[in-house]
Order: sequence, then structure tokens, then C-alpha cells
Amino acid sequence: MAKIEKIKTNFVCQQCGKESPKWSGRCPECQAWNTMIETTITRTPANKVSVRGAPVRKLSSIEIKNADRTPLPNNELNRVLGGGLVAGSISLIGGEPGIGKSTLLLQVANMVSGVRGNAVYVSAEETERQIKLRAQRLGIDGDNLYLISETDLDVIINELDNLKPGFVVIDSIQTVGLPEVAAAPGNITQVRECTMRLMQWAKSNEVPVFIVGHVTKSGDIAGPKALEHIVDVVLYFEGAPFSAYRLLRCAKNRFGSTNEVGVFEMVEKGLIQVENPSQAFIVEHEENIGSAIVPIMEGNRPLLVEIQSLATTSYFGMPRRVANGVDYNRLLLIIAVLTKRAALRLGNQDILVNVAGGLKIEEPGADLSIALSLASSFYDSGVKPGLVAIGEIGLSGELRSVIQLDRRISEAARLGFKYCLVPRSGIRSLPPVKGIELIPVSSLKEAIFKGLVRARSNSKKGKEAEEPLVEEELHIDEEIDENI
Ligand SMILES: [Zn+2]
Repeated sequence: MAKIEKIKTNFVCQQCGKESPKWSGRCPECQAWNTMIETTITRTPANKVSVRGAPVRKLSSIEIKNADRTPLPNNELNRVLGGGLVAGSISLIGGEPGIGKSTLLLQVANMVSGVRGNAVYVSAEETERQIKLRAQRLGIDGDNLYLISETDLDVIINELDNLKPGFVVIDSIQTVGLPEVAAAPGNITQVRECTMRLMQWAKSNEVPVFIVGHVTKSGDIAGPKALEHIVDVVLYFEGAPFSAYRLLRCAKNRFGSTNEVGVFEMVEKGLIQVENPSQAFIVEHEENIGSAIVPIMEGNRPLLVEIQSLATTSYFGMPRRVANGVDYNRLLLIIAVLTKRAALRLGNQDILVNVAGGLKIEEPGADLSIALSLASSFYDSGVKPGLVAIGEIGLSGELRSVIQLDRRISEAARLGFKYCLVPRSGIRSLPPVKGIELIPVSSLKEAIFKGLVRARSNSKKGKEAEEPLVEEELHIDEEIDENI
């Protein structure tokens, strides 16, 4: 009787790569629902290659060649990559569909092909015609740029061995597959094996390879943890759908500093670096009613961001709160503290908060400027011209300092801001910064009085808007309070 070979299968979580002999609705490792997919167990040769005897060397005998890093003609990219492309490195770039990953990588491939020799763009998703059209739009003639439209990774690697390129882009890792792996492309087993194979090729040929990864709804790269461990560099490409600005954020870098952020602008000719990112997100106003500026930290880089608020009497029983670019729950907390600790009657107000330029702010250091812009809109009084505000708000209305205060203040001073509201607790250890006056505040109430000025149009006594209202600060509150 013929022996029937039993096919062994496992259930593999598509999120985190957890393997289990039996199916379950929820992954026991990462708690994700419906991610356990039945997968055939295969012994791929990829797992055995590394057994070849590696030469043992003394640490002192190893030389680091400077030529290993290829700087690109784009400062923002170099910043994120830690100085340039590293030979033999494998980088993963993730981002939502349509954000511009393919555009960016086509541009990078074109840049590299001028420096490192031929570049190969492997597209398993788009046809050659689509890429050609994109290249035309970007003004890339592509004399040193080769296209491969293929999904079989064995065929792709065979072609790469023939072409011997200086740079490779795989767009995307979820659409390529190895025929010997019994899983559909996009399956975590397949994605992992393909990445391993590409890494081996990159290391043995000393060529930098970029792979594109799709992201899940929650913003992670599909099959994220498994992939992030394998690759050398993990980049996330972000931006609001209708904003021209894009951030390239480094989440892992074996050859440089993690946490770097590059700022780009999407124009008709593709992505260009933003020369002065801090200036990109702020707009000049005549009167700063409802608008406050905060220097936030995006990775290792201070960026000045404008927060706009509008508080207006609601015509519905349940006033609306809209948060764009700031955390909704954080906004609710700030509104509650403003109501309770600074006596702002926001209970019947519709409140809208927006971060200019489509940025998303996650750090609590922006609390004070959110509160200030809200108070400004509520009182119809301008924020003191040339002022930035930094600080985290506590539940009792106290202000707390934030990390890297000195760098934020220096950046504000560099861009010509004249005053900075800082939590009093943070000012002690602070060296003086030239050109900017620090205004220490300890409570939210104090910050509102020191940060707001009477708007020109509201000025009854003809006071200049720039004039500080230290004496009159309480009058603003009382006058307007009577009118409510
Ligand atoms: Zn899992």
C-alpha cells in the first residue's frame, strides 16, 4: 500500500507570528481576533544556509570602511537614515496606501542610481506602464533604473544576480512569494521567508535593499513584529490625506539614531525636502485669536506647530467636541480642567481643535497651548504676539515641565519668537536662551492671564496689543464674565 505523506499544518498568527497546533479565535500572544491562519509547515532551505562555517575574527582586526555608507542628495533622507544608505542593509518602509511610498522610493532609486550604479525597482503590484507614467510625472528618465514586474522571488533574485545592481526596491513584500513555501503571498510565513531570503541576498552582495510593507488598520506593518526583528531599518511614512506634508519616521535603525524624523512636501514633481520644517506648520496672523504655537518634539527634532481652537455657543443640548490632530480624550481632560480650575464656562460651548498642517500631536507638552488657544477663542482675546507655550496640564490645574525644554525654547527663539510660557518647575534647571523671554507660570489660570492680550479690535482703552496686561489681566476675566 502506498504510503500517504501526512501534511503537517500549524496555525500562525498573522499579526505577531505566534504558532499554535490548534486553532483559536483569538491569538494567545497578541490578543488579536481572527488572525490565526492554517499554514503548512515546510522546511525551507533558507533556514539552513546560515550553517556554513563563518570565519572567526578578532574584534580589533575588523576595519570599518567609510565607503559603506552612501549619502543621498537629500538632507532629510540622510537624516532619517543616519547619514545615508548602508551597503548590505535591509530597510522596511510602511505607510498607508496612497501616502506616496512608491513615489518616494522611485525617487530614491533614481538618486542612488546616479551614485551607486544601477538600481532595480521590483514591482509586484503595478505594471511597468504605471511606473513609467509615474516616472515621467516625476521627471525621471531612468537610464540606470531597471524595472522587474514579477511576484516569484526566486525569479527576482535570479534577475538581481544577473543585473548586479547597486540598489534594490521591492514593492511590496506582501505581494511577492517563494514557490517552495506553501502559503499565499501576504501570509506571515511567506512574508518572513521572503524577507529572510532578501536579507541574505543583500548581505552577501553588499547592496542596500528597501522593502515596502503594507500597514494594517491600526497602523502597524502587516505581520509587524516578525518583520521588524529581521530588518535593519524600519521607517514609517505618515501624513494626513489632504495635507501636502509627509513625515518619514524612523522606528528602528541599526546604523544610526532611532527617533529621527524627516519632513517632506508632496508637490507635482514628487516629494521634496522641506528646508525649514519648523516654519512649515505655522502661519502668520494679524491677530492670534484662537491660535497658539507650541514647540513639540518630533523624534529628536523640535518642530513649531500651530494649534487652532474655536469655542462657540452650542445650539444643541449636547455640545460637540471635535479634535483634529490631538487626542480626543486629552482634549476632554483639558476642557474639564479649564472649566473647573480656570473658571471658563465651556459647558454650553461647541469646541473644535485643529492642528495646522495635518500633523498629529501625541505628547502632553502641547496641553498648555491647546488650553491657551481655547481660552483665547472663548474670551475673544488674542494670544500675546510672538509667544509660544509649553507645558503639561495636571488635573488640579498645575503645570508640569516636559522633556528637552531647552531645545524647544531655542528653536522658538531661532524662529523669532519673543516670549515663552514655561512651567515654573521646569525653569530652574534651564540655561538662559538668547533672544527669548521666559515667562514662568505655575497654574493654568496664571498662564491664561499672562498669555492672552486684549485684541486690537476689542481694545476699549486703545492699548497696543503687544502691551502686557499684567495689571489688567483680572479685568479681562471679570469684564467678559459679566457679559456671559
Ligand atoms: Zn498574535
